Amino acid sequence: MDLTLNETQSLVQRTARDYAARAIAPRAAEIDRSERIPDEILSGLAELGLLAVNVPEELGGSQAGVVSYALAMQEVARACASTAVTMAVTNMVGEVIAAFGTDEQRRRCCPRLARGEWRAGAFALSEPEAGSDPGGMRTTARRDGDSWVIDGAKQWISSGASAGVFVVWARTGDREAFPGTRGISCFLVEGGTPGLKVGKHEDKMGLRGSNTSSLLFEGCRVPETALLGQLHGGFKIAMMALDGGRIGISAQAIGIARAALAESVQYAKERKQFGEAIAGFQAIQWKLADMRTELEAAHLMCMRAAWLKENKRVFSREASMSKVFASEAAVRICNEAVQIHGGYGYTREFAAERHLRDVRVTMIYEGTSEVQRIVIARSLLAG
Ligand SMILES: Cc1cc2nc3c(=O)[nH]c(=O)nc-3n(C[C@H](O)[C@H](O)[C@H](O)COP(=O)(O)OP(=O)(O)OC[C@H]3O[C@@H](n4cnc5c(N)ncnc54)[C@H](O)[C@@H]3O)c2cc1C
Repeated sequence: MDLTLNETQSLVQRTARDYAARAIAPRAAEIDRSERIPDEILSGLAELGLLAVNVPEELGGSQAGVVSYALAMQEVARACASTAVTMAVTNMVGEVIAAFGTDEQRRRCCPRLARGEWRAGAFALSEPEAGSDPGGMRTTARRDGDSWVIDGAKQWISSGASAGVFVVWARTGDREAFPGTRGISCFLVEGGTPGLKVGKHEDKMGLRGSNTSSLLFEGCRVPETALLGQLHGGFKIAMMALDGGRIGISAQAIGIARAALAESVQYAKERKQFGEAIAGFQAIQWKLADMRTELEAAHLMCMRAAWLKENKRVFSREASMSKVFASEAAVRICNEAVQIHGGYGYTREFAAERHLRDVRVTMIYEGTSEVQRIVIARSLLAG
């Protein structure tokens, strides 16, 4: 594997870095406080092609590949983790539709997501009683003439209150004939469809600029053309999307940790105690050295998983390893950043506390650390 970035990858990285530093980072604290990402930030990402990095050009995407996507995600997350998760799910939804949609679905949805015409895409898999185990889902879709009627509830949906299109999973086969995950199908539901209601807004620890809400489906009628992929084939789509999504979350965690490390280095040089900069103390130097080392390892794992996916190799285990390592390392790094900032790190005066709040969820969503370990162990034991 060649780690040198090609021209496209360097360009995407530079473009994302410049935009994130100029237009996003200065507003990150305000985004966290106001619990809202300004529309112009999402429009800016769309203009730069960052809402559909790995979507074919003919569908309005940048077609810049998975490595470019992971690099761009790191840069945006470094500036603002809430903006990054909105970008991550929108990219994931665009990719899923590009990969599994009919021509009509792809042409209707992908360009709108890429252009930012729809404020975001949303991925509606989790339910109140079905998180790590999507096979426990209760939402149903039943055929009625030339429509599907969806009933049930989804939980924890990122951009649930603002998305223009939702990829929704529902049970289409009864449990006896289709046990576990076998009778699940996938649907495209546009925002504003009658019968789709946005439910409770979650008051979260971090990622406060990204809205997370429940969704209620009450006799939500969609045309038969809303089925995405094969009937009863939805679980496979979810797993394939999550495998790719985990590379994005790994990159998000790395981006947040990069910000925490850079701010820690700066603070350690400026803060004086016992008559000298705290950067002069070996205890602080060792923390910084460990933070940098873990970050480097996380980055290499992320690049490897991205490279495998980009080159159409099997990448599921590497994506899980990358996510579990990067997210747990990033939580440790952000925690150390607070420690290096001392009491100031525990206040809103410095971004360190926001990074720690924001990064924690990377160990939970798109499969918890425990679920990643299950995926990794299963592949080891199967071999
Ligand atoms: C901010 C945020 C945004 C999210 N965005 C989305 C979204 O856009 N779309 C979406 O569909 N979902 C989303 N989620 C949901 C997220 O993916 C789930 O929270 C996650 O999959 C875990 O499910 P759960 O919360 O029900 O926990 P549970 O599955 O109830 O797990 C509880 C604990 O038990 C552990 N556990 C469960 N099963 C096992 C097992 N077999 N072995 C060992 N340990 C186990 C888990 O690891 C965890 O520690 C989001 C969540 C959050 C917090």
